[in-house]
Amino acid sequence: MNAPVVIVGTGLAGYNLAREFRKLDSETPLLLITADDGRSYSKPMLSTGFGKNKEADGLSMATPEAMAEQLKAQVRPHTRVSGIDPGHNQLWIGEEAVPYRDLILAWGAQTVQVPVEGDAQDAIFPINDLEDYARFRAAAAGKRRVLILGAGLIGCEFANDLIAGGYEVDMVAPCEQVMPTLLHPAAAAAVQAGLESLGARLHLGPVLTRLQRTDAGLDAHLSDGSVIPCDVVVSAIGLRPRIDMAAAAGIQVNRGIEVNRQLQTSHDNIYALGDCAEVDGLSLLYVMPLMSCARALAQTLAGNPTTVSYGAMPITVKTPVCPLVVSPVPRGHEGVWTVEGQGADIKALCRDANGRLLGYALTGEAVREKLALNKELPALLA
Ligand SMILES: Cc1cc2nc3c(=O)[nH]c(=O)nc-3n(C[C@H](O)[C@H](O)[C@H](O)COP(=O)(O)OP(=O)(O)OC[C@H]3O[C@@H](n4cnc5c(N)ncnc54)[C@H](O)[C@@H]3O)c2cc1C
Repeated sequence: MNAPVVIVGTGLAGYNLAREFRKLDSETPLLLITADDGRSYSKPMLSTGFGKNKEADGLSMATPEAMAEQLKAQVRPHTRVSGIDPGHNQLWIGEEAVPYRDLILAWGAQTVQVPVEGDAQDAIFPINDLEDYARFRAAAAGKRRVLILGAGLIGCEFANDLIAGGYEVDMVAPCEQVMPTLLHPAAAAAVQAGLESLGARLHLGPVLTRLQRTDAGLDAHLSDGSVIPCDVVVSAIGLRPRIDMAAAAGIQVNRGIEVNRQLQTSHDNIYALGDCAEVDGLSLLYVMPLMSCARALAQTLAGNPTTVSYGAMPITVKTPVCPLVVSPVPRGHEGVWTVEGQGADIKALCRDANGRLLGYALTGEAVREKLALNKELPALLA
């Protein structure tokens, strides 16, 4: 039998690639392998689940069996790839060798762990997939106070959502503003004020050093000496593209697995997309880029070599208390920021020396201007 096209990972990248591929080729054997339970779900929904009171099962859109049928593919859930042998066109699942015609790495990014002292490290929950979400929901059931580590996009979304779900929220992050790598300070101040208006307490500057069980729950000891009582902790301090196994197989990596505009790694018939991939130098851990990659790569795998291009890719942040859309300034560009508006309604624009728009951060009422501004934005990969 012909070796199958093998996709490792059944997140949005893996399943969308499989869907796009099947639109073009219904015959080539297709195998999807995933370390998790293989249910299809939309990861962005994980940070809106408490406000909507959704259990993990309620966020799941299809079982792996249903996906296998829909995709005319074999799906192997709870199966962890342990190595790649590019010389023999095969990968390893423990002792089992699995041959491939083409191998696609769609195995995402892993959560960054913090070294913390104390006897309650098991009360720290990263939330990066449906099973993490289910575990956290079980741990938070009947509790009241959540401490969130990190004030990036995901930390802020969880803060808004957990408060909407009835929790008290403290946030701790070693930075001066929320979303420091993404947002102009004026927009960050608007988001922070919004979260605080809901009752969130932000502790910006220190880090968590020790988490200790007490009779009443947990004590979180911070590096500035303060102590925050809480019941459970969410870790949202960042994601790192999974690169180690690819590097061990001799595949070129940088921040992510390096791929060209055809999503091809340094090895001919090994490709990568989604959170694990660095496409022509861009490591963008969002949905829009991976959808473009899935469409282009499906064409290539179906025998029609295709390069991916990205238009502008503004990010809508799910902090309903302070609506926010942001389009970061693309790499290699320098510009000058202007800020209009005040309070919750901020329009921060970055323009180059010729007046061309490079990026923006819009909050509150200013979000209405995004469609007009999007037309002016530069493409990220032209
Ligand atoms: C809470 C949250 C909210 C978000 N909100 C937004 C948003 O609003 N908008 C937006 O654009 N982006 C958002 N993102 C980012 C977006 O969801 C991700 O960019 C996207 O889902 C990544 O998909 P992926 O398929 O590349 O990775 P993943 O979904 O992480 O999938 C990786 C897959 O690989 C499997 N895997 C890993 N290692 C192995 C192995 N060794 N063997 C076998 N299988 C393996 C995993 O089991 C999994 O199936 C959010 C992310 C989070 C965490």
